[in-house]
Amino acid sequence: MRFPCVTINLKKIEHNAEKLVKWCSERQIEVMAVTKGICGLDKVVRTFIKGGAKKLGDSRIENIVSLKQAGISIPIYLLRIPMLSEVEDVVRWADGSLNSEVKVIEALSAAAKTLGKKHKVILMVEAGDLREGVMPENVLDTVSEIIKLSNIEFEGIGTNLGCYGGVKASYDNMKLLVDLATDIEQTFGIEVKTISGGNSSTLMLLKQGGLPKGITQFRLGEGILLGNDPSTSRPLPDTYQDAILLKAEVIEVKTKPSYPIGEIGLDAFGNKPFFEDKGLMRRAIVALGKQDCRIEGLAPVDKSIDILGASSDHLLLDVTKNKDIKVGSIVEFNLSYGALLGLMTSKYVKKYII
Ligand SMILES: *Cc1c(COP(=O)(O)O)cnc(C)c1O
Repeated sequence: MRFPCVTINLKKIEHNAEKLVKWCSERQIEVMAVTKGICGLDKVVRTFIKGGAKKLGDSRIENIVSLKQAGISIPIYLLRIPMLSEVEDVVRWADGSLNSEVKVIEALSAAAKTLGKKHKVILMVEAGDLREGVMPENVLDTVSEIIKLSNIEFEGIGTNLGCYGGVKASYDNMKLLVDLATDIEQTFGIEVKTISGGNSSTLMLLKQGGLPKGITQFRLGEGILLGNDPSTSRPLPDTYQDAILLKAEVIEVKTKPSYPIGEIGLDAFGNKPFFEDKGLMRRAIVALGKQDCRIEGLAPVDKSIDILGASSDHLLLDVTKNKDIKVGSIVEFNLSYGALLGLMTSKYVKKYII
């Protein structure tokens, strides 16, 4: 094994997927498994499918292309609303996409026509988190434009919460979506097949019985990969939190003061650092840094180790309470979703499927 590396335990991921698919299917909700967290690694994606996911979603078209090229055959949707400049690729590779701009949907339709295809569209509705989506009062007008387009299949509506504004999924914002779907069906006499009610942060609402009837789909990434409820950062019941771990190697261990010596200016990232003087400290340096991941998203598995901070290539640990750490030791970390995204994207971090 080479370091730093991310280890991905397929059995645990399949277990997580299976559990969450079961929660959802008991309420007639299908799971679109979200693959961006593992950058569309097809071996991992196959475990989502084994676990019961019926559809896949990714926010980057590159990942969708590689999944299709790897022979994944279930429908894959582009989650980030498409760029005008990528509509041709989107139509070519993705079965559908989430959208909020009529101009883009028109371009998707034109591209689909050229390729002799139909492209599925889920219209995103703004339910309060203030990221993508049309305002609820504009949904009917927007749908009337979409259903005119020859090579677009209007599949349904969706919303995204808990991402930018941190707004939690609630009975009210989910019911807004269900009611809008009813309005659409009555106004246009069409079926709204999909009501895509959210992401992993909606799972606890479902578990606690607070989800209104009518939601048909959850898009789940973090819940499957990390067993985490993003809205509270607490473990989801009956799931593994350690399916994916970071392992990194110690390159220096020395006892040094805890307070820097000399006048303190700005650090390598332009911030004025703050230190508490705790006297002498046994410190370890791990070969990993801010270029590889969001350090705030790391938590040592061994609770006797504390993270002090990092620069671009060095992670500093307080190992005063752990006498076993020495040069060459491998330190394991649990990951936040943000840390995982960075690590998976870094070419300096090896990925091992176990
Ligand atoms: C990333 C993403 C998701 C998955 O969110 P998780 O919190 O990881 O479950 C769902 N929907 C959209 C639009 C996304 O971009």
